[in-house]
Amino acid sequence: MNCTHPFIDLSGDKLREECGVFGVINAADAAAATALGLHALQHRGQEAAGITSYDGQEFYSRRGLGHVAENFSTPEAIGELPGFMAGGHVRYSTTGGSGLRNVQPLFADLASGGFAVAHNGNISNAQTLRNELVRHGAIFQSTSDTEVIIHLVATSRYPTMIDRLIDALRLVEGAYSLIVMTPEGMIGCRDPLGIRPLVMGKMGDAVAFASETVAFDVVGAEFVREVEPGELIRVDFDGKIESIHPFGKHQPRPCIFEHVYFSRPDSIFANRSVYAARKAIGEQLAIESPVDADLVVPVPDSGVPAAIGYAHQSGVPFELGIIRSHYVGRTFIQPSDGARHSGVKRKHNANRSLVAGKRIVLIDDSIVRGTTSMKIVEMMREAGASEVHFRVASPPTAHSCFYGVDTPERAKLLAARMEVEPMREFIKADSLAFVSIDGLYRAVGAKDRNAKCPQFCDACFTGDYPTSLTDLATSESKSAQLTFADHKAA
Ligand code: SF4
Repeated sequence: MNCTHPFIDLSGDKLREECGVFGVINAADAAAATALGLHALQHRGQEAAGITSYDGQEFYSRRGLGHVAENFSTPEAIGELPGFMAGGHVRYSTTGGSGLRNVQPLFADLASGGFAVAHNGNISNAQTLRNELVRHGAIFQSTSDTEVIIHLVATSRYPTMIDRLIDALRLVEGAYSLIVMTPEGMIGCRDPLGIRPLVMGKMGDAVAFASETVAFDVVGAEFVREVEPGELIRVDFDGKIESIHPFGKHQPRPCIFEHVYFSRPDSIFANRSVYAARKAIGEQLAIESPVDADLVVPVPDSGVPAAIGYAHQSGVPFELGIIRSHYVGRTFIQPSDGARHSGVKRKHNANRSLVAGKRIVLIDDSIVRGTTSMKIVEMMREAGASEVHFRVASPPTAHSCFYGVDTPERAKLLAARMEVEPMREFIKADSLAFVSIDGLYRAVGAKDRNAKCPQFCDACFTGDYPTSLTDLATSESKSAQLTFADHKAA
């Protein structure tokens, strides 16, 4: 593949966190605060945004394709969302599709009143539950896995809303961080393993929930604590806060990729600064895979903290050998492969005078398909680098994610197809190394992966999925049956 233009986009070959959620109750300007909070979470999903509010009488919703600022920056837009409770969602579609009907929060009028839900994660038995619900007469409005939760709540026989929600969630497997709004108040909850993040904050008398602490910084809320794995926190309109743990005790398995790439570096995740964790991963990488070089160069922007750590540990100077233009068109992530390629924005350029004649250590957070890594190496060589060594601040990504992260199918993951040396040949680097899984654990402040049981979900590196994957198992057994039938027919 030829890199025919010096400016390339380095952002197209990443795993994508698909959603961010924000909610606030007992705030005078709930919708405006939610819009601001979602704006701080925009990196978690750029395809669509939605907000639902409640004023004590009615629920109001506004949802649209595009960025938060495109949909919620005017007084008119916020004026459509009155009330003292609001919750919202930014989305990059995984399960379901990219149409407006899948934009959240999803809302339904149940027998008990309005029910709105914003969901970060992915329900790994959604199709199985959906088939069952449809067989019993349910009519779905969207193709989103989240709608399954609404139908399960609607059909639960428990008398109270909180018990109906718990009853529904007992049937659900996979990853979910939810913000639920009803005429009784707001509920923030996290799946029993805490795979996807959710934090709680306070803003005067208001209580807020968000995917990341950075949203609290932006709206002026104080970070109180993480919502615990398996915890439901119910907040009513009198400000009463109640914590419920209906699912028993489990070893938490939060997504370790939040530390690697998804969360903003100015967030706190799993009680650790994401920036500090990324720097420590870079230091670990330098300890495990040193190289004689003249410059440490980050792949912007996600490789920057790890590159600072690598430079700090190795003593090799950190330099910006790749420059990102902020003015070369808008980066708008499209969910379909074709659109992604046709929409490539050429926004990164080699800092030629710096890298010419130098031995470069390139630092990136991950390698997914490998095509972008190959282009970056080529860009460095075209700019005159004498050697290009590639160091990756995560272990090889060899497995797909089924917990709400957009991953290519396994066959398209470079690390699923080849070992490290063929990968090096593929990206045409002089050397290639990844941080070890134990090194990654140590860097994020945990024990080695095998010292106890794993303390994070790390399935995209190890293939060790912490929950059942019912829909996947069903589709694999169906395709195995088909193959067998085809074989017999042949
Ligand atoms: Fe995170 Fe990977 Fe687990 Fe998905 S599979 S939740 S990206 S660690």
